[in-house]
Amino acid sequence: MKTYTEIALNTAKMLGASYCDIRIILTNNESITTRNGEIGSLDRVETIGFGVRVIVNGAWGFASSSILTKESVEDTTKKAVEIGKAGSTVLRNRVTLTDEPAYNDKWTTPYLIDPFKISIKDKLGLLYAADEILRKDNRIKVAMGNMDFVREHQWFANTDGSFIEQVLLRSGAGISATAVGEDVQIRSYPTSFGGQYMSLGYEMVESLRFLENAERVRDEAIALTTADECPPGKRDVILGTGQLGLQIHESVGHATELDRVLGMEANYAGTSFATTEKLHNFQYGSEIVNLVADSTVPTGLATIGYDDDGVRAQRWHIVKNGILNGYHTNRELAHVINENRSKGCNRAEGYYNIPIIRITNLSLMPGTWDLDDLIGDTEDGIFMDTNRSWSIDQKRLNFQFGTEIAWEIKKGKKTRMLRNANYQGITPEFWNSCDAICNENYWELIGVPNCGKGQPGQRAEMSHGCAPARFRNITVGVGHKGKSSGQV
Ligand SMILES: [Zn+2]
Repeated sequence: MKTYTEIALNTAKMLGASYCDIRIILTNNESITTRNGEIGSLDRVETIGFGVRVIVNGAWGFASSSILTKESVEDTTKKAVEIGKAGSTVLRNRVTLTDEPAYNDKWTTPYLIDPFKISIKDKLGLLYAADEILRKDNRIKVAMGNMDFVREHQWFANTDGSFIEQVLLRSGAGISATAVGEDVQIRSYPTSFGGQYMSLGYEMVESLRFLENAERVRDEAIALTTADECPPGKRDVILGTGQLGLQIHESVGHATELDRVLGMEANYAGTSFATTEKLHNFQYGSEIVNLVADSTVPTGLATIGYDDDGVRAQRWHIVKNGILNGYHTNRELAHVINENRSKGCNRAEGYYNIPIIRITNLSLMPGTWDLDDLIGDTEDGIFMDTNRSWSIDQKRLNFQFGTEIAWEIKKGKKTRMLRNANYQGITPEFWNSCDAICNENYWELIGVPNCGKGQPGQRAEMSHGCAPARFRNITVGVGHKGKSSGQV
């Protein structure tokens, strides 16, 4: 691979580029879905290709190809330089990158069992067995299961002297049951939109214990069809991890992507209220709210050795003791907030896209509470879990989330099940109302495999760690508004 990367770097330099990087990526994907005891889809795809990025006269140029030959690397690099030169004639601001160390390294996702070595027959066998349990009651009209595995073998080199090889492995799996009675209700396991995803091997699928959980999932879906609707009003809300993860994603993750904060993503995916004059002084949440970005946390979907700028993975506070403390940055934009190093958040989907700032693993640090004590301490509240729908405005301020399941809490006791529960709020008010977070025994990473951003649209994956937490005096209601599928 070094032969190819050197052709790109040398060609770019010869043609006057001040910077060049090349990413060669070999990707293996396997995706299986089942529906009511039959195969829904089964895809196995292998792709290879490379993308070359250059800076010429202060402007970016980018080109990619799926043909990996010496000639193709040279031609594609020439094309990237031409695009950069054309762009430089209409340039407003010249691109400058932070100075970063060069690395020669190999990094691989730690895992135990290679999912590509487990037969399709075994995988289908597990999904069918779960499916059978889910459909043992004829009120379940749709039982679904899925497994997804991705291995990305990447080679990165740049004109700063880096040569980095990475093998990233991600696994995901989930089941769900849809019951039809007085109402149509879905219950997903372990969480919604395809279940749990982690940077792990097939051992993650085994750890989910579908067969031990399918009966409960089925029974909850059926019980929800006749459950009372969530009574609207102002209540204390305890969010389970299956909902809190997406709350973090939408109201903190996207709000602190520096390109959005600077208005550079405004045309595509919204800006942010968390503007740079608020850094180090804005009360984002209550004092117990600590949100940490971490591209090194074990099993996180965004856990990598290096980002697509060749910057080493890091850990830093986005919100520290309630105060806005940092952003997701890359080499191009870090200087705007007077930082001389990137936080390493530049990532691209595939070889054919230019990297953009993406949320990394962003987690709410655990507190001190035991969940039973927290429920015991709540007079009049609702416990909500598992996201079902979401909407948030362009500034990442006003939001509404619907959940699959909820229980009323009265005088410290978890009582009746409630259906169609939702809650709404305004980002800083909501996080400032957080007065209790459960301890590390309840903390888990919730994988988001389908975060969408950019133009053309790119998908990225990341995880959000959290333990159940309580938010005081929240507006709760009935119904599901906003998106309930697609990208988040
Ligand atoms: Zn997203």
